[in-house]
Amino acid sequence: MATIFSQIIDGDIPARIVYEDETTVAFLDANPLSPGHTLVIPKEEYERLNDVPDDIASDLYATIHELVPVVEDSVDADASTVAFNNGEAAGQEVPHVHCHIVPRFEGDGGGPIHAVAGDAPDLADRELDDIAAEIESRV
Ligand code: 5GP
Repeated sequence: MATIFSQIIDGDIPARIVYEDETTVAFLDANPLSPGHTLVIPKEEYERLNDVPDDIASDLYATIHELVPVVEDSVDADASTVAFNNGEAAGQEVPHVHCHIVPRFEGDGGGPIHAVAGDAPDLADRELDDIAAEIESRV
């Protein structure tokens, strides 16, 4: 079963498409968190960020890079929150990688990205060292 986003790409579900190239497409979110809330996706279905092949990841970033200032300017935003919900536990509902560009405005009442993960843990230096070493050893 094609994801809802693939159905948009195929023209089976209407959407306000604002950009399209060979490998990526962008359209307005149907339930915008702010005016101009835009989703940028690869045309091929990949569930999570790490499933996206390198060349498509570059294309995706290039589209995000191009669109962020355009979206901000189009709605006269002061800034934007640009983020992926990467996996169900992080709030991803549509299993087709998508970047949210959410225009932000001074005094809009929203929070920073630091607010998304619940209570911040109190990690000791040794735990931070272990985590950093673990990540570094896997790259
Ligand atoms: P997620 O929670 O997976 O990161 O975000 C999915 C986003 O897709 C939500 O912000 C939701 O409003 C948007 N969305 C879901 N269905 C549709 C649709 O049919 N059309 C459009 N344009 N956006 C959709």
